[in-house]
Amino acid sequence: MTDTTRALLLTFDDRHLREWAAAAPLLRRYGSRVTFFICEPDRLDREDRRLLHRLADDGHTIGCHGLRHERAPEFVAAHGAGAYLRREVLPALEELRRLGFAPRSFAYPCSARDDGTDRLLLGLFERLRGGVPADRRADPALAADLRVPAADLADRRVLLGCSVDSGRGPVAYGHDLTGIEATLRTTAEAGGVSTLYAHCIAEAHEANHVAPARLEALLALADDLSLPCVGFDELP
Ligand SMILES: [Zn+2]
Repeated sequence: MTDTTRALLLTFDDRHLREWAAAAPLLRRYGSRVTFFICEPDRLDREDRRLLHRLADDGHTIGCHGLRHERAPEFVAAHGAGAYLRREVLPALEELRRLGFAPRSFAYPCSARDDGTDRLLLGLFERLRGGVPADRRADPALAADLRVPAADLADRRVLLGCSVDSGRGPVAYGHDLTGIEATLRTTAEAGGVSTLYAHCIAEAHEANHVAPARLEALLALADDLSLPCVGFDELP
């Protein structure tokens, strides 16, 4: 039985089913389970839906990422809290349920959140994922914001992640992941959980993506540190 009070929570957003499925053997090789946060579930084609079920069958967590990838605080400010739930969140949740999934967690599109949206969404989900700016990946003090100590985990329902994406289209993001690596080491030593996020898994892609080699390096580091990689649904 995995002790999920000491773990890495690796998460992937949007709906890159083909590329995620192609990376499933890599995840399996490291015994890693991750969380896929799905947006636009009504736009998944038959093959996407089949692949999503296979990922769930592998033990990965399926979470919700909104119907149209709206930024929560902006949508609420423009249309109200009721409209946000009615138009953006509930239809996504219902569509995922109709497809046979039971999402218990939600990742904020663009990590855009505030206390009001947290309160609203914690009525529907057990946990929410926000984020810290991606340039924190090189910050030696990153662990202080990402790591949730085991003793706090039961009460901490909003977890902040940091991007490990390699780039987007022709743009390459920072290569310096020393803050991320330090976070994994601190989590392995002190316990608790830390959250990371990426999007597509590919050498190159027009959308945000993490290169398979970078993903494997992170999985190998967690493995070296005996830090289990688990999905959101496995948290106590
Ligand atoms: Zn997204």
